[in-house]
Amino acid sequence: MYHTMTRLFSSSQQHIAEAAQLLRSGELVAFPTETVYGLGARVFDESAVRRIFVAKGRPSDNPLIVHCAEKADVERVSEPLEKSQQRLFDALYEAFCPGALTILLPKHSSVLNAVTAGLETVAVRFPAHPLAQALIRAVGEPLVAPSANRSGYPSPTTAEHVMSDLEGRIAAVIDGGACSVGIESTVVNILTPELTILRPGSITKEQLDGIAVKQGFAPFVYANENASENAAPQSPGMKYRHYAPNADVFLASSLAEAQHLALTYPPAQILARREYVDGASIDELSEQSLYATLRNADAEKCRTVIILCDEEVQKNVALMNRITKAASKR
Ligand code: AMP
Ligand code: MG
Repeated sequence: MYHTMTRLFSSSQQHIAEAAQLLRSGELVAFPTETVYGLGARVFDESAVRRIFVAKGRPSDNPLIVHCAEKADVERVSEPLEKSQQRLFDALYEAFCPGALTILLPKHSSVLNAVTAGLETVAVRFPAHPLAQALIRAVGEPLVAPSANRSGYPSPTTAEHVMSDLEGRIAAVIDGGACSVGIESTVVNILTPELTILRPGSITKEQLDGIAVKQGFAPFVYANENASENAAPQSPGMKYRHYAPNADVFLASSLAEAQHLALTYPPAQILARREYVDGASIDELSEQSLYATLRNADAEKCRTVIILCDEEVQKNVALMNRITKAASKR
């Protein structure tokens, strides 16, 4: 395996310029976004794109999201949309971008098959984080940026998480502190007659529907992940083990059940909404803190993590999606 010294950069202009130079010369650089840290490579650099899959241990049929600094960048990676789709794209862009929304577009012929895993669509996002925008602008070209973790493990929400997974495998990490959103972007497909949410995220179905309906479309539907197991998956990443710490993750529906599981499978850490937090034995569960808390449970050599999914938590589709996957052994 390729081995290098991984540099830890600050948010200074000098360091952003050095990071951009590394990317232009074909290296991999991790950087903060508002969702999670991304592992960046130039979108048109085939050898760098291939090295992303090696560094992460990512299956090659799991496509990468292209990160753009501005709307005009879309023309470099996407073919033109049909009129009604373009109207919806414009409205979604106006409402949620830059931000935690990823939109599938028809792939431009210049986009590498390694980026889209051979699909005819390319996923595009406009990160809101100022360091992400500064880096993309300094490189002068969109960046592919999957989450900067070892494949299967919880996504990184600090530069330390990136270092602990990828040190020695990538050229540098830009330290922008903790990510404000903490879970990955909402991924939507607006190219099919039925508008679909391929991955739930902090931008909710209700928010998306508000825009779609105003533009004369029917509301979004959630893609059925189970249906995608054998058939060609709509969003290939959905079929893989994701977000899972080394500790076993159990779901509980009441505090009493959580405490019973904790006594049965020690050492255990319970995660629950803020109102349950009580010093050491119960940690806060939120979108922003989920991955950091799962990683911390491993660092503290917990055997189990028990997540209290009360009614309030169960209403949060994005958080439940990540929790369910973290609890799945596959
Ligand atoms: P990550 O970068 O690790 O947050 O994962 C990106 C996810 O976006 C992938 O796992 C896919 O599920 C989804 N994705 C990216 N590109 C496409 C595409 N062209 N079609 C469908 N889903 C995509
Ligand atoms: Mg990921």
